[in-house]
Amino acid sequence: MQVLRGNIVHAPALGELEALEHGFIVLDDDGTIVSVCPTLPEEYAALPVVDYGDSLVMQSFADMHLHAPQYPMLGMGMDLPLLEWLNTYTFVTEARFSDNDYARRIYKKLAADLIRNGTTRVVMFSSLHTDATLILMEELERAGVTGYVGKVNMDRNCEGLLETTEESKRETLRWLDACDRFKYVKPILTPRFTPACTDELMEWLGKLAEERGLYVQSHLSENQSEIAWVRELHPDCRQYWETYDKYGLWKDHTVMAHCVHSDARECAAMRDANVVVAHCAGSNINLCSGVSPIRKMLREGIWVTLGSDIAGGAALPMYRVATMSIRASKIKRIESSWREEFLTVPEGYYLATSSGHRYFGAKDGFAVGDKLHAIVVSDADFTEAARPLSVSERFERAMYMMSKDSIVSVWSEGRKVL
Ligand SMILES: [Zn+2]
Repeated sequence: MQVLRGNIVHAPALGELEALEHGFIVLDDDGTIVSVCPTLPEEYAALPVVDYGDSLVMQSFADMHLHAPQYPMLGMGMDLPLLEWLNTYTFVTEARFSDNDYARRIYKKLAADLIRNGTTRVVMFSSLHTDATLILMEELERAGVTGYVGKVNMDRNCEGLLETTEESKRETLRWLDACDRFKYVKPILTPRFTPACTDELMEWLGKLAEERGLYVQSHLSENQSEIAWVRELHPDCRQYWETYDKYGLWKDHTVMAHCVHSDARECAAMRDANVVVAHCAGSNINLCSGVSPIRKMLREGIWVTLGSDIAGGAALPMYRVATMSIRASKIKRIESSWREEFLTVPEGYYLATSSGHRYFGAKDGFAVGDKLHAIVVSDADFTEAARPLSVSERFERAMYMMSKDSIVSVWSEGRKVL
């Protein structure tokens, strides 16, 4: 067993922040949290202490939507709307991942950058390539990133990057068979989005999800042209979500990225099925998709998490994604003549941490019984404040001002990985 000491800041509920100045986290020998306390109880007094001094010990981040093979196009080509953006920039970039050496180089860097920026859990898209997907999972596991990765299924309507329906099925099974060797990174079924999958493939994936008890991730209601296209492809479905529901893909823990244009009926379907929204504010603004009604979703009891959505999103660090989500909620406030409340910093932090960690079975905040997922943040080189700051104020400033250089240590699944 061991003890971590520092200024502990965590989000035990939406909008709640608990700050323990010079507090303690007691860990079991496998990195499970035994106690979170303001003073160290006598029974733990003899344990070895990792002293983080005046640094902040915060929850690490969970990135609930990102595309690993789009990492090479980060920061570029955000001048087109979704469907044109896919056909012009995205598929040609993802096609490069038929080259395993290239995949190895990019994914090694991505995995390292995730950890350096404090992201320890992901729900991630790969490309359609089985071998590159296995390389991605290897590199994530080696770096200490945990979570779910999906080999993408796409057998229609994607110029320059396609598999046949038969290939898609065969390669999905080959990929699943090879996933047994991973301890911390698990497979998730990943139909790219309704327009990219034939009915036959969607039906097959739905059955596979049920047979093997697999989770599902995809995209929903990101852009108006996309929604109109889905309506043409599935005239029997009233709304986009029903095209997933029809094949058994709309179920508990299904992650749906974006949900920018989801109305009351689509939102009710999310809540009823326990579908998870991965809100990607930066990406939605970059591609002029719109601003998702997050406050409304939270009010209605929908499970909302955050995603960087690289490379529609241009920022991998989840502290940037959290503050971007706060800005996006302020756009909603402006648009609603100040009726809608914006997200507070503790709320943005909760969505980027606890709400995502819950997907993996964790409880909110630093909770007893959970494996430790934490970052240690030094704000020593931030500008000297005009007065002494409380731990909560230092936390708020860190959320807006930290960079990877501020993150001095990272714990993932109870292990120190940086
Ligand atoms: Zn996406």
